[in-house]
Amino acid sequence: MDAHLLPAEEKAILTHELLNKEYKVLKLEPRRDPMHELISTMLSHRTNHADEEKAYYTMMERFGDWEGIMQAPFEELADAISTTRWPGQKAPQIQQALRMIKEERGEINIDFLQNMPVDEAIAWLTRIPGVGLKTATLLLLFNFKKPVLPVDTHVFRVSQRVGLIGAKVTANKAHQILLDMLPKDPVELYNFHKHLLKHGQKVCTWFTPKCEKCVLRHICNYYQDVREKGIDKAV
Ligand code: SF4
Repeated sequence: MDAHLLPAEEKAILTHELLNKEYKVLKLEPRRDPMHELISTMLSHRTNHADEEKAYYTMMERFGDWEGIMQAPFEELADAISTTRWPGQKAPQIQQALRMIKEERGEINIDFLQNMPVDEAIAWLTRIPGVGLKTATLLLLFNFKKPVLPVDTHVFRVSQRVGLIGAKVTANKAHQILLDMLPKDPVELYNFHKHLLKHGQKVCTWFTPKCEKCVLRHICNYYQDVREKGIDKAV
């Protein structure tokens, strides 16, 4: 049987193994504290990393701490994070998030998520305005080493092209479908996420993916069904 016709479950494992070889296996260490991760991930929506960081540090410098940010005049906060996309939408969402956390927990701290069951933690986080499944799973995997899989635009695109998920699957549904096919180990899931993200940025790019350089060619539906037959070049 051609490798690209294998069941999606087998291709998911093959994808994971091939990308582990292609890119080095990473350790799972939190890159920033949980509150920083949460708010920076909210800032990062449709914004590059440099502009997200600039917004975060400008906001901290101007208002001092989470309390200061929560109480800042809305226009001033929007101005501080103006390097991000849609600052006028993100500023009230950040303030609402901080208020919600303070009201429910008595302090602006989300370390308690470490001891909360995964489903409950996802439900708790996704009640916060501006926090979707991608942000919630990213925080729970990166900071609390919970066995979940964040699916961003790159993970989604590569998974769909290779054929791990169907063409009609939404990004939200893809979180669970892909998770069900992978080992429930946070380090494995972290590497799967990071490697697909890197592959999507560098090789399987949105426009003209560099299939000739890709280690997933032989199992990839897009390559076998479209690219190799020249369909994407047909007028
Ligand atoms: S073969 Fe092409 S379409 Fe398939 S994963 Fe690789 S780069 Fe993407």
